[in-house]
Amino acid sequence: MTLYQSLPWRKLTELSSGKGVKAEWQDFPEEFLSITNEQASSIPCNGRAGCYMNVVRHGPSDIVGICTSDTKQCDRRTLKKSELALYRIDHKKLATKVAAAIGFTEQHEQIKDYTALWKFGVLNPQAEHSFPVYCFLGQTSSQLDKIINQLCMGEQTFLLIAATSSLISTASSDASSRHKSKLIGIDDVLAIDAAGKVTAKNSAQTIVSNWLETVLPKSAKPGSEYQFPTPAGATWEQFVFEFTATEMLLVSCGQIQERLEPEHLKMKNQNSGKPTLQWTLLRSLATTGGSISWQDQDATDRVKKQKQELANKLKQTFGLSEDPVPWSESDKAYKAKFVVKAADNVLRQL
Ligand SMILES: [Zn+2]
Repeated sequence: MTLYQSLPWRKLTELSSGKGVKAEWQDFPEEFLSITNEQASSIPCNGRAGCYMNVVRHGPSDIVGICTSDTKQCDRRTLKKSELALYRIDHKKLATKVAAAIGFTEQHEQIKDYTALWKFGVLNPQAEHSFPVYCFLGQTSSQLDKIINQLCMGEQTFLLIAATSSLISTASSDASSRHKSKLIGIDDVLAIDAAGKVTAKNSAQTIVSNWLETVLPKSAKPGSEYQFPTPAGATWEQFVFEFTATEMLLVSCGQIQERLEPEHLKMKNQNSGKPTLQWTLLRSLATTGGSISWQDQDATDRVKKQKQELANKLKQTFGLSEDPVPWSESDKAYKAKFVVKAADNVLRQL
């Protein structure tokens, strides 16, 4: 982080109540500023740091500025109305830019009961795993500490972007990591070039994906940890299960395709090394076009129990909460929502 990069963002924390005239915003990106209908009662004197002049109105278009320094070191001068207009940050435009830089769905709203906290959107990297993205546009580290404290009392993991990374205290940073949440600054996400143009920092997506790796379930590793990389928003209807061998299942969902063995689905008996009854049941779906029915009444409870266990394991592995094999009243049978089939050579063995 170069000092230059964080300086414009610091204006967000330095200007009282987040408003200032153009001369005060200095090199802050103009695209994020929005004019208010308020006017300043004092503005910076020209060219001298730290020196302010009072705005004195003699008439509607007769406005002069008088230096407030003890020595009145600056000459009084006529002021233009445009010099007095107060500007504030445009939260909406900032949200849009940050959402595009990180890659999340924008959902813009102010959060009540919190100081200067905005929701900018929702990050939905995988299946039903989604995280709110907040932006803190207040002015002090202690305000931010308080917000982090409150948010960390909830269970929801979040990403919070502070006005500048310099506002992030060690305490807040530690509390967020313990909560598995992530705290970064706007200066970690957006860069401002010498011409004042705002661009997304390449490092932004790296920071976020490194964090997501620690919160999302592990993918493509056999054993108890395995999780299918179900894309965001996917439903069971988009899945195709194809048995390419009696103990090999090719699962596809859109562009994603993985080869799964009973172990991936936790359907392998650890003692015998053989597939469990749930795997057998899943395989039998391939021969019945996806339905589970039974002949004798005595079988009912046993089938119901196996069906329930199969559904639970599929929900876990694919990260979806809906029942993949619900009861169909019209068919009087359980029906798979996904397509399930088997290669011809496999069907002959079943
Ligand atoms: Zn002055």
